[in-house]
Amino acid sequence: MRIKVLGSAAGGGFPQWNCACRNCTRLRDGSLQGVARTQTQIAIDCNPDYALRRYWVFVNASPDLRAQMLGTRELHPFLNTNGSTPLSDIFLPSADVDSIMGLLHLREFQGFRIFSLPSIRRIVSEENSIFRVLRRATPPVQWFPLSLAKPADWQTQYDQKEVPKLIPHAVSLRGDYPDYISEKLRAELPSQEAVVGFAFHYGAKRLFFAPTIPGHDQSWISWAQSSDLVLIDGTFWSDDELIRTGRSKKTARQIGHLPLSGPGGLLSQYPAKATGRKVLIHINNTNPILDENSAEHRAVLEAGFEIAYDGMELKI
Ligand SMILES: [Zn+2]
Repeated sequence: MRIKVLGSAAGGGFPQWNCACRNCTRLRDGSLQGVARTQTQIAIDCNPDYALRRYWVFVNASPDLRAQMLGTRELHPFLNTNGSTPLSDIFLPSADVDSIMGLLHLREFQGFRIFSLPSIRRIVSEENSIFRVLRRATPPVQWFPLSLAKPADWQTQYDQKEVPKLIPHAVSLRGDYPDYISEKLRAELPSQEAVVGFAFHYGAKRLFFAPTIPGHDQSWISWAQSSDLVLIDGTFWSDDELIRTGRSKKTARQIGHLPLSGPGGLLSQYPAKATGRKVLIHINNTNPILDENSAEHRAVLEAGFEIAYDGMELKI
């Protein structure tokens, strides 16, 4: 399995259009040791080596998807065809704007498959009529329902001798639904479907993708511990980061992200027994780890984490 990080920032990207925080200001004027990042998106190549046409699985549908696809040669249309795409399937982890807006970039009469929990499909299809534009394709974009993994599913082992295929598990992370949906619909949706991470098995290997860890429970820990590659929530360094930078009156935890540092933060909760590669993704523009000369940047590297960047390629 080969994974390409097409985007690694949280909502708004880095720099964010309306943000004059220390990070964004210094990135714009060239005084920050660090790089710009687009909004989080990954693509997975799980084709056998002999495949002539290589199809990709997307996780998330980033607001930056169009530019990310244009900038990635493997995702360009197949040559000598009228209209075709290496994009086959999209997995949606939530109905947050940053996870579904990219679908609108894909409205050009192209069929593909969307996999999500039933609640996410309802939010997109029932209350947001603009997404009906995806039905214009022939055949139309098709939705497939996922069910939630059981807590013990992380112990599943797959036969290494069989031809590997991508097997997804949707892991409930106990987050909240986006604030734009109606109270009526919200009351009908089960809370455990609001935000999921995805564990993808491919042969004996496992990728765990969880760019949002609300931290209300510890369901993510056993999945992180048992995976060969973990792409996990690096949104905020500290709980009061948005308050201190004047960006919001809410803490990181109040908007659904466990901060990296502090008591009970992600770094302290991350399972010590985990042996897989661990990469922070979905990094907010205010996060000091984006400054490669900062003590916080050094601290996460010393804790054994890598920091995702656009164009990063990972193999397991
Ligand atoms: Zn900023």
